Amino acid sequence: MPLTKDAMRDALASVPGTDGASIVSSGALLWTTVCDTYASIKIEAGAGASKQDLEALSQRSRAAIEHLAQQNNTRLDSFIVEYVDHAGKVVHTSRFGAMTSVPAGTTPPQAASPKPGPGGAPAGHTPIGGLKQPTPQQNAGALPNVRHVIAVGAGKGGVGKSTVALNIAVGLARRGHSVGLLDGDIYGPSMPTMLNLAGLDAVVHQGMLQPFFTHGIKAMTIGKLVDTDKPLIWRGPMAHGAFKQLTEQTEWGELDYLIIDLPPGTGDVSLTMAQMLQLTGAVVVCTPQKVAQDDAVRAAKMFQQLGITVLGVVENMSGFIADDGKHYDIFGRGGAEQMAQRLNVPFLGALPITMSLRANSDSGNPTANFAGTDAPGTRLRDALEAMLTNLEGQVALASMSSGKQRPTLSIS
Ligand code: ADP
Repeated sequence: MPLTKDAMRDALASVPGTDGASIVSSGALLWTTVCDTYASIKIEAGAGASKQDLEALSQRSRAAIEHLAQQNNTRLDSFIVEYVDHAGKVVHTSRFGAMTSVPAGTTPPQAASPKPGPGGAPAGHTPIGGLKQPTPQQNAGALPNVRHVIAVGAGKGGVGKSTVALNIAVGLARRGHSVGLLDGDIYGPSMPTMLNLAGLDAVVHQGMLQPFFTHGIKAMTIGKLVDTDKPLIWRGPMAHGAFKQLTEQTEWGELDYLIIDLPPGTGDVSLTMAQMLQLTGAVVVCTPQKVAQDDAVRAAKMFQQLGITVLGVVENMSGFIADDGKHYDIFGRGGAEQMAQRLNVPFLGALPITMSLRANSDSGNPTANFAGTDAPGTRLRDALEAMLTNLEGQVALASMSSGKQRPTLSIS
């Protein structure tokens, strides 16, 4: 039987904290998350607790969760204990996990590679264009055990598409969902840096790539499988094969959401994705300037042409918030919202430029974006939460209209 959050909480009730009281009854246990065999908990570190105290508490918690896993006859592949101070800042992390490791640079297990069809395109590529053709989405299959697949795209690079994809993934995980993040930007993968995967090796278990479990999400990126210092040159069929392997040969397990960070533009990977996977929808990221909007319109129209619902537009870099809380409209503001209105698609929200967002991305610490306490930090956190709430709403609407979820009426 798989682990559940409630069962984990019950098991942890017998674990004494650094003050000797149960971490559950004292309120020190802030949250538990579990994605099948990957579990993590967050504990408020008591004032004055040393690193040794915290490590000892991590061991006690681990023993309780391992015991629970044994009772449930299930595997526990990874267990992470994150300690935060009273302001929510992470002060210590303990990670446990033991899996068979393959060094970076080893080719992942081979999928049947796509045979080029006429003209060099992978067999099965449907020409897009005329509405009379079925859209690629109409023939796409579902990823087993994944409820919602959401692609994040942008008309061009550098607008913050990966940043938005990552913060959507981490933000949804913080809301208690089990979330996977696929770095589909095979030409320029940024997740090894943004998730701080340095020092971790890609792992294959029984022929399947094991996702990296970090910051409460499961992630997979080609950046940990190939040497990214060399230019990644993929012809159409190769891009198709690489994306397909990453998606299908990663052991995602059960997920509420799989977020896919697409390459910028309107290329091969988007078409492959649309043919392969039933999506709940796509998010388009755009900066406020007019030139950026023109590209974003093309990205939104591409999704629509592929038969993918546009869940909404996010305006990134919507003004800069300085340390004193003052707002500077560097690239302008509001342009993406107008564009969304013009396209008749939802507007999901605007994220400001903050120094901390850039620094947290470079240092691979996305959870810190949700724990800011200074003026720019709180504005960023509020903006991220508002975007997530809007996105969850659009996902619910899209699922209802596609019949995945129906409203229920209970009369008593
Ligand atoms: P893309 O995926 O569109 O190419 P990235 O997400 O990689 O763009 O972002 C490009 C750079 O801009 C990264 O260094 C990232 O940290 C930074 N960045 C993105 N959005 C913001 C923001 N709102 N505030 C500060 N820095 C940002």
